[in-house]
Amino acid sequence: MKVALVGIGKIARDQHVPAINGSKDWELAATVSRHGSVDGVEAFADLDTLLAERPDIEVVSLCLPPVPRFDYAVAALRAGRHVMLEKPPGATVAECHALEAMAREAGVSVYATWHSREAAQVNQARDWLKDKRLKSLKVTWKEDVRRWHPGQEWIWKAGGLGVFDPGINALSIVTEILPDAIRLTAASLEFPENRETPIAASLVFAHPHGADISAVFDWRQEGDQTWMIEAETDDGVLRLTEGGARLSINGETAAEQDADGNPLLGEYPRLYAKMAKLVRDGGIDMDLAPMTLVADAFLLGRRVTVEPFEE
Ligand code: NAP
Repeated sequence: MKVALVGIGKIARDQHVPAINGSKDWELAATVSRHGSVDGVEAFADLDTLLAERPDIEVVSLCLPPVPRFDYAVAALRAGRHVMLEKPPGATVAECHALEAMAREAGVSVYATWHSREAAQVNQARDWLKDKRLKSLKVTWKEDVRRWHPGQEWIWKAGGLGVFDPGINALSIVTEILPDAIRLTAASLEFPENRETPIAASLVFAHPHGADISAVFDWRQEGDQTWMIEAETDDGVLRLTEGGARLSINGETAAEQDADGNPLLGEYPRLYAKMAKLVRDGGIDMDLAPMTLVADAFLLGRRVTVEPFEE
């Protein structure tokens, strides 16, 4: 299948291009970007021209930040193309619902991707937790924004999510591995006084069987980085670390799933394999559970102003 990549920035170059090039299902047929291109691939400066001139490209994969993404998705769906959305699938929940409705009406596929759900050990964690009684679950997602988002102004603008940009990855794993739905009951969001989005957040959730569920996200972590989910159950403790790439149960480390030395490398190939299947089956995958929890944190969260953040 021919795919066009839109928004040739960090994630397109780091993950989408290698995943497409490494797959038998896909051919990178064109790019759309105001500044970037990929060697040897036809480059368009705007999406409308691509849609008009390349009717042979069935799938459009959108790697833009969330705020500008909706208009691109609408244009692609109106042109009868299947659409793959980077996370988060929209800047608002209503946008996501609108895209799903448009795709259904047009009879095309739309896929709200959650790359962290494809981390190597997430399925094993879900399978283990399926029949356990959960006592508590704690998310600790602490990273250095200067290291991972240098120069990215959009993450600090309204709609850019701030620390929820990585935090929503943690919530995408939590909502995948827990058999029961959780809902947000309290949040505290720390906004640097010179920024429009939070640099840190702590969240509390209600669980249908009373387990204690909480999350702490922080972008001010220097040195070692922490992307960890710990679940205490009646049968012991499950610990997912490195963003879902490593798993230990009662202190015993599970065998590695990706033997290529970088357990995060498998995430995007698995997303593209799922997209290929959705297109073949005529399916839609628009799970908004992580997005709903984040939206609720912005709705319900107490706002605290903290010291300015300078890059
Ligand atoms: P990025 O490099 O800052 O931006 C991606 C590209 O989007 C830019 O190169 C730019 O391309 C285009 N763009 C930016 N603002 C635009 C606007 N207002 N209108 C049209 N195009 C615009 O961002 P990124 O890190 O790749 O992140 C993009 C998405 O991927 C985000 O939703 C993010 O959450 C997700 N993601 C990122 C990472 C990561 O490690 N960075 C990991 C997983 C997922 P042109 O200027 O050339 O048009």
